[in-house]
Amino acid sequence: MPEKKKSAVKDSPAPGAASRNGGPSLSAVSTEELHREIIRRLGEDPTRDGLRLTPERVAKAMTYLTSGYSQDPAAVLRGALFDVDYDEMVIVRDIEMFSLCEHHMLPFFGKVHIAYIPNGKVIGLSKLPRLVDIFARRLQVQERLTREIADAIQDAIQPQGVGIVIEARHLCMMMRGVQKQHSSAVTSAMVGAFSKQSRTRQEFLSLVRKSGESV
Ligand SMILES: [Zn+2]
Repeated sequence: MPEKKKSAVKDSPAPGAASRNGGPSLSAVSTEELHREIIRRLGEDPTRDGLRLTPERVAKAMTYLTSGYSQDPAAVLRGALFDVDYDEMVIVRDIEMFSLCEHHMLPFFGKVHIAYIPNGKVIGLSKLPRLVDIFARRLQVQERLTREIADAIQDAIQPQGVGIVIEARHLCMMMRGVQKQHSSAVTSAMVGAFSKQSRTRQEFLSLVRKSGESV
């Protein structure tokens, strides 16, 4: 590209064989071909046995790992709301979470703890891990993931309060040696009764801590 003075061919905005031979435009290049080109640029040979089917596998994996974009959390919850006369804290802890950080597209993973105090309605318990997956299977930052889960519950049942805590380890930090192996990040979102009443918040946090081993 003429306007990019110092860039080598490597930095051409149109990756793939396409850019070399003036072939199809970028959007016409298959995702598999894009992954094949990435493998080439890493200095590898995409035609050798172990790598031959890798572009296809990566494309499939990435589609699955970002499948949350095509799912509507409100629709999932709508089918599982129940009227109840119960106003104690509902807590589901240690929900496994796997996501991709949006800065490096590397995994971060850990545990999500969810609590809320109903206000006439509860959510079927099996839907909470589903909800976590819908938001986790997107390119994320841990803070936004925490907030989105809280907001979805708030919107679905308008409870007296919602509390979310996520403990996670980030491979982009661990593998790149920015912070070492035992680093984990904790984020929380506290809405309604959980933000105002410190007793409620404390009760939730102490229940979470009882879950014992950290991630
Ligand atoms: Zn990252």
